[in-house]
Amino acid sequence: MDNQKVYGLELNEHTGCAHYASSLDIIAIKFKCCGKYYACYKCHEALRDHPAERWEPKDFATKAVLCGHCGHEMSIEQYLFCKSSCVHCHSPFNPKCALHWDLYFDK
Ligand SMILES: [Zn+2]
Ligand SMILES: [Zn+2]
Ligand SMILES: [Zn+2]
Repeated sequence: MDNQKVYGLELNEHTGCAHYASSLDIIAIKFKCCGKYYACYKCHEALRDHPAERWEPKDFATKAVLCGHCGHEMSIEQYLFCKSSCVHCHSPFNPKCALHWDLYFDK
């Protein structure tokens, strides 16, 4: 599915990238500005020439988080409340991603 294509530097099969590549770094996040999935905000910065736009609370029902393990797309709201595991396959996500939520979501 083309709209689920993930962009990033040194992307691996589970959407890990040059910046975050542990076995827990398996999610990709869609950016509001370009509507494309990136492995992380640094990948967006490296590959695009525009500033990243954050999702606002009114957008939180949008499916914008992709599990790199099973390919399931979650809404932002589902992701924010998933307690760092996929709502579909229950793969654990990196809980440290929460430290970067401000870069993606305007909560
Ligand atoms: Zn963008
Ligand atoms: Zn990256
Ligand atoms: Zn999953």
